Amino acid sequence: MLRLTILASGSSGNAALLEAGSRRWLVDAGLSSRRLEERLRAAGVEPSSLSGVFLTHEHADHARGLRVFLQRHSLPLYCNELTWLALGWQAKIDWRRMETAVRLDLGGMEIESFPVPHDAADPVGFLFHHPAGTIGVLTDLGYATRLVWEKMSRCRALLLEANHDPGLLQADSRRPWSVKQRILSRHGHLSNQSAAEIATELARHGLQEIILGHLSADCNRPELVEETVRSRLEEARLPSLSVHVWTEGAPVPPLCWG
Ligand SMILES: [Zn+2]
Ligand SMILES: [Zn+2]
Repeated sequence: MLRLTILASGSSGNAALLEAGSRRWLVDAGLSSRRLEERLRAAGVEPSSLSGVFLTHEHADHARGLRVFLQRHSLPLYCNELTWLALGWQAKIDWRRMETAVRLDLGGMEIESFPVPHDAADPVGFLFHHPAGTIGVLTDLGYATRLVWEKMSRCRALLLEANHDPGLLQADSRRPWSVKQRILSRHGHLSNQSAAEIATELARHGLQEIILGHLSADCNRPELVEETVRSRLEEARLPSLSVHVWTEGAPVPPLCWG
């Protein structure tokens, strides 16, 4: 059995639960420890039964509750060295060095990380390879590099960022010009259009299910995401990809195989 449950996805926090057989991991911990515990229990999982936490990068929306959560439940943290150093913790944490691009065997499942272009110390995406299929986690990147395309082409299911609508971002009066440039840059975040392009191309390579997440609260709307991605898929005559948009008000049910 392989199951992916999104616990939170968006500017205000990101966390996902991955379950393979009797083992479970958290991917990112961008909510407070208390809220993470609540959401895990709502998903039927006792936090201390996890095998560890994988971290994509050190930004607060991915690591906000991480230190307290790890300490409260005595769990190991898996991330690369630059991300670990960027966290800057003095606290005693069971850190397991995870070299980018080296596969880690977790007993029945292999996890692989790969670099993504984003303005953090050494940000990564993840691939979870399981006999039932490969699940990808790809949030927080400015654009899809050649390596990202190559890695993602193996996915059966994918959590993909659809961060902003460029028109809404340009019209936003609360963000200064410099922040908008950062978001739009090649080390920023994916627009709905970029996400639609990735979804369409991967659907040609066998992607069956996609969860679009990490939506900006101010500069995006779920119906815009859905419309942009679905219309691109229809143009390409690839309507069979199952498309879900995750928002706080309308969470997506777990993806489950096997
Ligand atoms: Zn983020
Ligand atoms: Zn980030």
